[in-house]
Amino acid sequence: MQREYEFQRKRLVRDLRAHGVRDERVLAAMLAVPRHRFVKQHLKQQAYGDFALPIEAGQTISQPYVVARMTEMLKLSPEHTVLEVGTGSGYQTAVLAQLARWVYSLELVAELAQMAGARLRDLGIGNVKIQTFDGTVGWSECAPFDRILVTAGAPEAPKPLLSQLAVGGLMVVPVGDRASQRLITYRRLRGGGTQRNEGEGVVFVPLLGRHGWQER
Ligand code: SAH
Repeated sequence: MQREYEFQRKRLVRDLRAHGVRDERVLAAMLAVPRHRFVKQHLKQQAYGDFALPIEAGQTISQPYVVARMTEMLKLSPEHTVLEVGTGSGYQTAVLAQLARWVYSLELVAELAQMAGARLRDLGIGNVKIQTFDGTVGWSECAPFDRILVTAGAPEAPKPLLSQLAVGGLMVVPVGDRASQRLITYRRLRGGGTQRNEGEGVVFVPLLGRHGWQER
């Protein structure tokens, strides 16, 4: 079975490359992380299809292409400290952990945070710290962050996150309505301003909380 999963993972990475993912380090990270370990038993056979899948608490594990694209947009280096908002299954967290020095990840649902933490431990991924609380307020004790990734759909970029971004840092966040969003990249400029760039369309579950959507 392991070999079958490896084979499927290689095929997925080939498809991602064909789909326009160019950063070889990102592709290597996608090849390294066993996505089947992040889904429920009965979905393991589908883990290497390029689509989102349901996880616990009515949430989803993101589509591999979207994980790869967002990771590519972050332009990570090995010395970076990253904040992720929306741990979910922990899959994107594991991909970030391959490419950055340290990943802080926040998840609203305790059950998901706990399961993701256990999976990452089982895989021997040690440069991640996960906590359960509203990620729209950020994680001020550990700020500033070189990179911030939001993996749930926001009505607008949460202000506390922008303020916890290091100068020269990048944040990628899906912004739009509840049904669909666009990937927006913010760069924090020297002198305090931010530069905003609009990317492709995506569909994420809603970012809830104080600086997100107010209710399910
Ligand atoms: N990257 C994850 C995506 C999970 S879906 C993966 O691939 O598995 C988005 C996650 O964001 C859900 O688990 C949801 O519970 C979480 N979420 C929503 N609002 C949040 C908030 N304010 N703070 C932290 N997590 C939040």
